[in-house]
Amino acid sequence: MRLINGKTRLYCLIGDPVQHSLSPIIHNAAFEKLNINAVYLAFNVSKGNLKKAVDGLRSLNVAGFNVTMPHKVSILSLLDRIDSLAEKIGAVNTVKNVDGKLVGYNTDGIGALEALKRNGVKLEGKKVAIVGAGGAGKAIAFALAQQLEKFGGEITIFNRTVEKAVWLEKSLTETFDVKVKGLKLSDLNLKNELKNVDILINATSVGMYPSTGKTPVSKNLIKPNMVVFDVIYEPLKTRLLTEAEKRGAKIVRGVDMLVYQAAKAFEIWIKKKPPIKEMFKAALRTLKSSKEL
Ligand code: NAP
Repeated sequence: MRLINGKTRLYCLIGDPVQHSLSPIIHNAAFEKLNINAVYLAFNVSKGNLKKAVDGLRSLNVAGFNVTMPHKVSILSLLDRIDSLAEKIGAVNTVKNVDGKLVGYNTDGIGALEALKRNGVKLEGKKVAIVGAGGAGKAIAFALAQQLEKFGGEITIFNRTVEKAVWLEKSLTETFDVKVKGLKLSDLNLKNELKNVDILINATSVGMYPSTGKTPVSKNLIKPNMVVFDVIYEPLKTRLLTEAEKRGAKIVRGVDMLVYQAAKAFEIWIKKKPPIKEMFKAALRTLKSSKEL
């Protein structure tokens, strides 16, 4: 049991809602394992209260915080500095207090790439399809484009609202020297484009609890030599991943991204190697014990 005393540093999450977030569980497990005198709490902050909440966090000199929906974009104007990748993405999920200055980062995309890497997936020269151009899709697309610019490769983005996919194509090609295509999410477009794809990433909420019977990509479009990564972590194995596994594809689960994005935030804050095993154990214990799954 950790001792809370006058020197305990506070880290937290702000968002609305935050009650079901796994971040407090993951970060407190890491603090405990490394015997760090810090606690992580979750605060429900409504849209209208964001500025007051950030002013409060500054006044209290909190060490750092995570930001979740609906504040990932609106937080930008309240920070003192923004890391270049977060600035390109236009969204922040991690803030560090550096001598009173609030510095914003985005670890979602980096967490997704780390999840792929730790599962033995190489990105060099690969053709990647991202289904979804919301917050997660955008963060992954930017982090991926930054990588592929160095090694070669192609990205195709599909989105139900096609304007967002087209916007993402435009901003990625303006920022990085990489081949990107933005398309409407439709069975026909998926059928035409997935033929040559090496890595398929679902970054939509399609298939997320409680709509676990849904899938964004029909199983006959999945090939055995594909890697299929679903960012959804509730359920741990979505219908998309179950079907991909049956087709012989390699799968990567959303819980891996969840843990690695938290690990990256931990590294930014604490400047120590995060205890990945404990962070995974804490996340999986909670997800598995959730009676709805
Ligand atoms: P978001 O910004 O609201 O974006 C939602 C995305 O899903 C959009 O692309 C949206 O398309 C698409 N979508 C929603 N319903 C759809 C439907 N019925 N058919 C087709 N497309 C649909 O949300 P987000 O923050 O990106 O989150 C998306 C998912 O990622 C959630 O399940 C979230 O839990 C998960 N996530 C996981 C992690 C992790 O660490 N593993 C991190 C962040 C998010 P439109 O643009 O057309 O609406």
